Amino acid sequence: MFSTEVKGLRLVPESPLNYPGEPFLWQKKTIGSILTDRGELTAEQFILATDVWTGALTDPVGIDSHVRPKKREIFQVSGDVAENILHTEGLNDYGILPFTIMPKSGVYIRPAPKERSLWIGVADNIGRSFSFEEDPQADADFYQMNLRPVMEAYWRNYDKTKVTSMWAGHYCYNTLDKAPFIFRSMNTVIADGTSGSGILKGDSIGRFVSSAFFSDDKVKLYDGTVMETAALGVEGRNVPVEKIIL
Ligand SMILES: Cc1cc2nc3c(=O)[nH]c(=O)nc-3n(C[C@H](O)[C@H](O)[C@H](O)COP(=O)(O)OP(=O)(O)OC[C@H]3O[C@@H](n4cnc5c(N)ncnc54)[C@H](O)[C@@H]3O)c2cc1C
Repeated sequence: MFSTEVKGLRLVPESPLNYPGEPFLWQKKTIGSILTDRGELTAEQFILATDVWTGALTDPVGIDSHVRPKKREIFQVSGDVAENILHTEGLNDYGILPFTIMPKSGVYIRPAPKERSLWIGVADNIGRSFSFEEDPQADADFYQMNLRPVMEAYWRNYDKTKVTSMWAGHYCYNTLDKAPFIFRSMNTVIADGTSGSGILKGDSIGRFVSSAFFSDDKVKLYDGTVMETAALGVEGRNVPVEKIIL
């Protein structure tokens, strides 16, 4: 059901007594239904693939989403100088600059040959609040005062490039080890904490969600590696800390 907003999770007792105020402390609980702007939907199990929005659904019923949001922005720069940088020869067979991280402050260039432009970004930490906006906007001043000076220090004539587009979203951070969380609470599987690499990890995340959904102890990854489903969970978590977050 596209364009349907989930307004909340309805926590109910597994064995209802039909007494006002249920579920009580001493009753075994489950998510009985989800409340949407197109009515109430019931199911035996639910999957929340809501990443940075997960807390809005799980907080009211007391499930910890274990994640925190941070705004992230991309700035597209174009023009002759940007194209010269894009077409840097000698680094690969394509004559295109590869994805490049500046040594200073982790500012990166993601080449965009189809758009004849460069995408500039950074995953800044201290000084960047953990906060959430429903419609985050890229901040041109952030680019001018923070990213542009770093780029100018490395690339000749960079001051002649122009910002031609910009956009923003959130990284949904697992602040502990920066790997996704896939865990079950009652009859609900929760997938969040993609920490800026949920597209890259989408195949594996889907496989973990499937195993968690069917209560399988093991997950078989694309390359045949077998892992414990609990490795990305909360209890029994067993993954190394992700070192490179861009
Ligand atoms: C600027 C930027 C650059 C990025 N670059 C990369 C990259 O190069 N590589 C990479 O791997 N990752 C990148 N990421 C991260 C990547 O976008 C995320 O990890 C990924 O989109 C997470 O996928 P998801 O399906 O878990 O969640 P999302 O894509 O966030 O999807 C969650 C969906 O749930 C919906 N939803 C939430 N709450 C409700 C509700 N109450 N009712 C109904 N629907 C709801 C939302 O509308 C949304 O459609 C980037 C992120 C940003 C912000």
